[in-house]
Amino acid sequence: MNEEDGQYFYHPLENIEDVEIFYEAVERQHLTKAVSKERPYTYWTIELYDQKNGIRGGGGLGVLAADTRRVAEDTGVPFALITPFYPSETHQKMKNGDIIDEHIPVNYKDFGFKFIDKVNVKCCNNLCQLDVIEKAFKNTRIIAITEPNFGELYSGMSGSDHRLYQEVALGFGGYAALKLLGLKPAIMQLNEVATFFAALARLDELARNGMDFYEAVVYTRKHTLYTNHTLVQAAEADFSFEQFERFVFPNLKSLAVKKWLKDKFVDGHIKLSSVTIEIAELRSGVSKLHARVANYRDIAGNKVKFKAVTNGIDMHTWVLPEINDFYEKNGILDMYLAPTADYEEKLEQVTAEKIREFKKIGREKLNQVLKTRPDQYGKILKFSDEDFIFDFKRRFVDYKRPELPFKDAERLKNILSRRNAHYILAGRVHSGDEVMSGKLKKLLETVDKDDYLREHVHYIADYDEELAYGLSSGSNVAINVPIVGLEACGTSWMKDIANLNLLISTHDGGVADGSINSYLNVSGENESEELDMLYQRMEEAISAYDNDFDLEFLIKRQLETFLPVISGARMLKDYLDYLFPA
Ligand SMILES: *Cc1c(COP(=O)(O)O)cnc(C)c1O
Repeated sequence: MNEEDGQYFYHPLENIEDVEIFYEAVERQHLTKAVSKERPYTYWTIELYDQKNGIRGGGGLGVLAADTRRVAEDTGVPFALITPFYPSETHQKMKNGDIIDEHIPVNYKDFGFKFIDKVNVKCCNNLCQLDVIEKAFKNTRIIAITEPNFGELYSGMSGSDHRLYQEVALGFGGYAALKLLGLKPAIMQLNEVATFFAALARLDELARNGMDFYEAVVYTRKHTLYTNHTLVQAAEADFSFEQFERFVFPNLKSLAVKKWLKDKFVDGHIKLSSVTIEIAELRSGVSKLHARVANYRDIAGNKVKFKAVTNGIDMHTWVLPEINDFYEKNGILDMYLAPTADYEEKLEQVTAEKIREFKKIGREKLNQVLKTRPDQYGKILKFSDEDFIFDFKRRFVDYKRPELPFKDAERLKNILSRRNAHYILAGRVHSGDEVMSGKLKKLLETVDKDDYLREHVHYIADYDEELAYGLSSGSNVAINVPIVGLEACGTSWMKDIANLNLLISTHDGGVADGSINSYLNVSGENESEELDMLYQRMEEAISAYDNDFDLEFLIKRQLETFLPVISGARMLKDYLDYLFPA
């Protein structure tokens, strides 16, 4: 078939009945459902948070990607994760009350990646050469594409040429890399729409290699899962036709695919979510609540349904090994660290004494981490077993409300002073986010003005995996207060619960998978009611630690509800059940 032929095979996917009949035919003839070594589960992500392997992410999206691969490794699922290797990363530090960004070069050779070959993508009338590098594990691998000028994660504005270049390079370059390695994807999971171009590259390959265009679309759709982490489509940046002319169309060989894509522009612009919905028949959201409320429409204007697959975490990565051993030895979790059939009864073994014992181990871990992580005054903190610690650790974005507990500084001070408690804040402000860096500055000024708060509220810069681990294992109470309706899932709170911390939270994201009575809930008609309840919960948490019965009750209740949610093995099983129904 030559390129022009593609034209004749173009049919818009309008007639649903036709599509259904066609699916059946395709099903019989072409679909290979099994995942195998040569046909791995492929996972596409613009962000991976896996510092051990040299790739630093920005937040939950990247942590999820890293955890998904680790769980696949642990459970023996053939799995390939495809992502960029960014040659530079940003770190942050405090200087005279301001957050300063530092850019640090990173070399993949230092992290055990090996060079495979080069692949090309076309952009702006040039051929851009990308290095394909790979790090293989037992049954999983990280395949990365990179080049010296690839730039940093999320550098520039979304909707900018550079972002489009990075996304196109990942999609077309990453797909070429798979071919180079002799791999065919059993499934393509797109971790958010920045990875759309990978599915487009597949569609183009099928269509130009003789498959009827219509058939190629159906085939691609049936093998592509779009995982959405965002709530409102309107908030997404779009790209212009002109940008696609420079970066996207030159990479397509099939005229039919080009035409298909051109038809998706509205007023000369395109949102990647709208085409991702078209190219992926399988769609998931990252918690029960999020899958229900994510407001997305397809091009025809119909509301998109998302299957709820709540995020989980890799327990090996985020939970103290002593606690995992305890869960396993007592039959609470199985060998994959997923809950056993009778885990609820087995939770009887969780006693206040045990909780305190594990807190001591976690406290040591936290002190170790803090040795190299000074607070806002350049001071190195060290906590004793007796110290009481609240923490707030997450990206500093508006909806997560890092400043909420400081709205009534006097009351916060009274609560902390009841137990001489500390409050540790950790979180990165996105580079260039003036609003949030302003809020952080103001918050730290409030703290600085007060003699008591100055000694008890600590901000640790450059929030990362190490700090997340240290805090979830070594503090007592975690605070998570996103504006209800805005958190897709969140995973920090899972690390806290698994490490036997008390959770104070609004009923949002994955927390809302459980009931409102399963943790220390914060709710209210408005922010001031929520704030009042947050302070009450902080007092309750302090009291609970003074009373074995209460502590045991609250921790067990959290585990009972959330262990099945938290388990990364549960998450991967949910995905496999959805993708490959029996
Ligand atoms: C776990 C983790 C996250 C996830 O944060 P949420 O706000 O709960 O989604 C982000 N960043 C780091 C460094 C983490 O370890």
